[in-house]
Amino acid sequence: MHAALFSSTRRIAFLTVAFVALASSCSGKPMDRSDLVLGTVCSIRILDGGSEKALDAAFARLREIEASMSANAAGTVVAAINAAAGEAPVAAPADVRFVTGKALWYAALSRGAFDPTIGPIVKLWNIGLDGERVPAPEEITAALPLVDYSSVRLDDEAGTVFLPRRGMLIDLGAIAKGYAADEVARVLLEKRVKGAVIDLGGNVKVIGKKPDGSKWRIGIQNPFDDRGAHIGIATLEGGATVVTSGVYERYFIGDDGEHYHHIFDTKTGYPVRNGLVSVTIITSSSIDADGLSTTLFSLGLKEGMALAESLEHVEAVFIDEERRVYMSSGASDVFQLGDPSFTLTSLP
Ligand code: ADP
Ligand code: MG
Repeated sequence: MHAALFSSTRRIAFLTVAFVALASSCSGKPMDRSDLVLGTVCSIRILDGGSEKALDAAFARLREIEASMSANAAGTVVAAINAAAGEAPVAAPADVRFVTGKALWYAALSRGAFDPTIGPIVKLWNIGLDGERVPAPEEITAALPLVDYSSVRLDDEAGTVFLPRRGMLIDLGAIAKGYAADEVARVLLEKRVKGAVIDLGGNVKVIGKKPDGSKWRIGIQNPFDDRGAHIGIATLEGGATVVTSGVYERYFIGDDGEHYHHIFDTKTGYPVRNGLVSVTIITSSSIDADGLSTTLFSLGLKEGMALAESLEHVEAVFIDEERRVYMSSGASDVFQLGDPSFTLTSLP
């Protein structure tokens, strides 16, 4: 139906092959490996202290996370929790409960603008997957009451997660990649990696030091350019993460010519439309950065910026449809806008 358009996920599948061909096995030299995991291209570049063992362990952990947390695949823990909605609590391992707990935390912090029970809405739209479409208004009205993070029962003592109403679906897609980046960082450091860049479909974390001792430089994606161009560079110490949520990541153009993207307004069930095209978070924990990028995007510029300013060691870069860039007060210490077609703007 939309043959002229590729979602980024599909486009990326072609790139993977090229990346894999670059993989090198000699230690001392940079080592690269990329693969399609968690619905996106995950690449790891080790600059110092690399080994095949370290890369194997990192990708094994990524596949483990995918096998328990994916909402789209059958047989995952998340799928089991969803299948048992309205019936029974489901045993969930500690990592699934940790990620669920974080998601519920950001839901409470945003009073539901971020909501991991957005699943029924995500499923109706199917954005980025076969059968993506604009649902009928009645379908959206019927699904919206099922979006209710406050009813999720996360029981750490029993080790279970329970969705109390039939039809409820949990979706950890807004936060699982961030958790995965933190986990890959942990695994690589355990395997004595000294310096590496972890890039899980644009969810980036750097660890350790570059061999020449200089800081890491990570580009922030230009949301209007699908060839991977950057609007500027974040200059970072090891342990930092850069995570972006944007309208360009997964979308389709409807028969009405509208651009429909994958972050939903939990009140209307339609993609968030608030003038923003992307929100980038720079901090140290990638799960928090991933949770916050989607949360701040959903909250919009004014409320989102206020939340960013209230958090310690969290910087945010908002970009709107008019190519205006808004930065939190400490962001200029770590981020330099480079593209003159964007205008650095202060909040009124
Ligand atoms: P990406 O997956 O491109 O990194 P995000 O981290 O912003 O982007 O996550 C977007 C995903 O989060 C969607 O594909 C969907 O699964 C889920 N989602 C959509 N809207 C919301 C929302 N309001 N709250 C929580 N999760 C959401
Ligand atoms: Mg996110």
